[in-house]
Amino acid sequence: MAQRKPIVAGNWKMNGSVELVSQVCDEVKKYSNSNVDVIIFPPALLLSEVLSENVEAGTQTISEFDSGAFTGEIHAQLAKQLGAKYTLVGHSERRSIFKESDQQVADKFAKAQEFGLIPILCVGETESEREAGKTEQVVAKQIKAVISKLGIAALNDSVIAYEPVWAIGTGKTASPEQAQAVHKFIRDMLIAYDEQVANALRILYGGSVNEKNSELLFAQADIDGGLIGGASLKKDAFASICKSA
Ligand code: PEP
Repeated sequence: MAQRKPIVAGNWKMNGSVELVSQVCDEVKKYSNSNVDVIIFPPALLLSEVLSENVEAGTQTISEFDSGAFTGEIHAQLAKQLGAKYTLVGHSERRSIFKESDQQVADKFAKAQEFGLIPILCVGETESEREAGKTEQVVAKQIKAVISKLGIAALNDSVIAYEPVWAIGTGKTASPEQAQAVHKFIRDMLIAYDEQVANALRILYGGSVNEKNSELLFAQADIDGGLIGGASLKKDAFASICKSA
């Protein structure tokens, strides 16, 4: 069985400040070591502030295009040049608010890798999709959009974050068993393509993770850390989540 190094990643969304960067980074850099990768996804304007604290950082999205007339977009190549190592792609807020399709997310995934960023592909079902028994179908479709475009080998240099939409920012966490079942489904699905790639892939859980529930979630066999929203803005909570990984 592959040894997978856990990741604890904080998605700050459009929150935070210059002051918060130093407060959170001072606390969490103690935990970024050979046992866990700690990454912060701040608003893009704070990227260099996080990097200057020697904490790994990434962008919350990137453009699927090269440079050009795309006002307001984030260029993968520039993010890489500035020191970003990762980017989120397909976060549920990008899919729902900004109407990003599976195809567009796959294009962003490809652009990230083209310029040397590690994409963290976010997937997950809505509450109504879960109630209709479609969780596996939805998650499989979101992942297969990337595999169809780039092949299974592209998942070698990537991370998947399973984030049930109904659990994001709602305080309703998936139970460790519910989360593990979907993580196992994802890994088994990928084993059918390539066992080595599937066993080495880090699959994070996201959705109302906090300092009280992280330990049990991270103890599940196929959960390799977490993508944390709200709790990543609180230095003590985020530090305890890092410690529990
Ligand atoms: C997220 O935004 O990716 C997230 C998981 O948010 P929260 O932890 O607040 O649910």
